[in-house]
Amino acid sequence: MSMRRARLLGRLMRLAQRMVQGGLSETTRTCGNPRCHCHQGERHGPHLYLTFRTPDGRSSALYIPRTGEAEVRRAVAAWAAFWETGVALSHRNRQALRQRLRRRRHAPKGKR
Ligand SMILES: [Zn+2]
Repeated sequence: MSMRRARLLGRLMRLAQRMVQGGLSETTRTCGNPRCHCHQGERHGPHLYLTFRTPDGRSSALYIPRTGEAEVRRAVAAWAAFWETGVALSHRNRQALRQRLRRRRHAPKGKR
């Protein structure tokens, strides 16, 4: 295995341990108390949410307190890096596949 390939695989493994797939969105909201200032236009928030789809395809959101913001941003960035690393590995695999197919095509008959 090449050094480059080993590095990419190691990177995938490290990123996989903290990656979280999802989008970050900030929203403001009103609460259940009709006399609260939030009902006069001064809404609560902004609050940070991680929005995502569950494995069975439903939309969901996770409230992220400010103390968790840095960690969740790193986790979402890790997902993006994991994906990019996967694309880079796929590119190398595709090139290797192309070379194997080419070699096979030019190999003597009966040696497949
Ligand atoms: Zn309120």
